[in-house]
Amino acid sequence: MSFIPAKFRAVLLAFTATIVLLLVFLLAASWLAKAPYASDQVFGKVRTGELWSPNARFIDDWYAVEALDDGTFIIGEPKSSQYNSSYLLAGQERALLIDAGSGERPASARSIRAVAESLTTKPVMLMLSHFHFDHTGDLDAFDGALVLATPDLKARAEGGKLALDASETLTGARDLRILRWVAPGEKLELGGRSIEVRGTPGHAHESASFIDHERRFVFAGDFLYQHLGGLVAFLPGSDVGVYADEIGKLLQATGKTYRYFGAHGVPEFDAAWAGKVHKAMRDLAVGTAEPVLGETYLAPGVPLRMHQQDQLLIYQPPLASAPMLFSWRGLGVLLAALVAITAIFWRLFRTLGRSKSGV
Ligand SMILES: [Zn+2]
Repeated sequence: MSFIPAKFRAVLLAFTATIVLLLVFLLAASWLAKAPYASDQVFGKVRTGELWSPNARFIDDWYAVEALDDGTFIIGEPKSSQYNSSYLLAGQERALLIDAGSGERPASARSIRAVAESLTTKPVMLMLSHFHFDHTGDLDAFDGALVLATPDLKARAEGGKLALDASETLTGARDLRILRWVAPGEKLELGGRSIEVRGTPGHAHESASFIDHERRFVFAGDFLYQHLGGLVAFLPGSDVGVYADEIGKLLQATGKTYRYFGAHGVPEFDAAWAGKVHKAMRDLAVGTAEPVLGETYLAPGVPLRMHQQDQLLIYQPPLASAPMLFSWRGLGVLLAALVAITAIFWRLFRTLGRSKSGV
């Protein structure tokens, strides 16, 4: 290396050191961030592909259904990577389908709309618990959906449509036709059956929960569920303070006599679990919890702030965020940063080279 001038060598060393430090930091973080569960035990008492309850049965190679009563159905996808559940609530005049499926069904399987229509003779309306890609799978099978009238969604809507971006579907950007806006707190009348739609931000700002007060059911989407994959409070729009407040309000409006259902893992949990999540989320919001470095089964190797209490895990904004890294914008930023760093060092090299040869 003696043919390289001393100043060059210093810059080269600094450049290499920076890159190595960055790599070491990322590797160390992802090595330290241990998954707090065995990967096949993420869903607790059930494994991928198994039925969640003795009352559930496979209706074909992909879907399984459990009737909670004569008009309430869990439509499960036990073979999906996140063990998804969607819900069908039928009244005497119409039925409400909560979520459009995981988007992971094989092409040979029916759309979730066809499944819903096989369970009720009433017209099926779709409403999403929130707009993440793992709940919008069969959106194209519907003419549109009821949409929660949050300020953000209202501002995004144009010409009666919502433009969904690639993070909100598995099949690329597309338009969702808004059949009707539903105000937070509004009651959907299904005919002899009334469903309260609550805005429950926290996991996503547009999260909705659905309450049947008469039958004492709560359908909470990804706002609340129970499995070792943990609750996700790190996506854009996530906020632990808001999350804690909203769980508290939902518990006040429902309580111990209600049955709760989530969108991932074993569908049903109880108010005690919701109360435990409420307390943990509040601890996080006021800073009395002590998060550690962890990773979720959704993004192995990506270090996240994790708060764990026994079976309860909550993930918060990470050192490097998965959606940030795994989007075109994220990759673009990363690439731009690399180009900028290289350009700066390149210039330094050249300047030093010129001043050297000028001497
Ligand atoms: Zn989800």
